[in-house]
Amino acid sequence: MIEYTEYIKENVSIIDIVERAGINLKHNKACCPFHHEKTPSFSVHPKKNIFKCFGCGIGGDVIEFTRMFYNTDFIGAVKILNTEFNLGIEFNKKVSIKPAEKEKYIEKGLNRVINKIYVRRFKSVEMALIAYYRRLHQIIIYYIPPHNMSLCKFKSEYIQALKDIDRIEYYCDIMLYGDFEEKKRLVETEEVKKIERKYSTKQ
Ligand SMILES: [Zn+2]
Repeated sequence: MIEYTEYIKENVSIIDIVERAGINLKHNKACCPFHHEKTPSFSVHPKKNIFKCFGCGIGGDVIEFTRMFYNTDFIGAVKILNTEFNLGIEFNKKVSIKPAEKEKYIEKGLNRVINKIYVRRFKSVEMALIAYYRRLHQIIIYYIPPHNMSLCKFKSEYIQALKDIDRIEYYCDIMLYGDFEEKKRLVETEEVKKIERKYSTKQ
């Protein structure tokens, strides 16, 4: 049944299902059907194809709306949507969507899982880089040599920290402001993996 989810979400608009439920939308807003209120805090987001109520906090996709509004379970909601919108889902068959399309849905789902894993890694790398950056900063302040000292007498740790700090700051910037692909490339480098192992705080 899960395999119908994407198909349904792509073929039923949240506006259609909400209006078919007898809710009058004005500028995509209405009084919430799930809690009592006088000013509308229930809204639909046509682009994302979801609904959200800022009064009672509920929200979700077309299936979730149907499930809640008609007080049924997931399968019940799929059946209602199937009938209401002539989706042509045959319940006795395992899969009614074409194999190629099915693959596309599986791939999409897989990508979502992979992305979630990456987002978690990003957080851990970001924390590790910041910790390492702080450490470098401490080293630089601690070892700061008197200005008449000859270069060869500088502590090697200090010189290394000076060399590293700009690059680490740049990495921090990527983790804080970069796009998904940039971050992905960075967290896959050996250098950053090493920093992550050493400086990530285990939770
Ligand atoms: Zn509500």
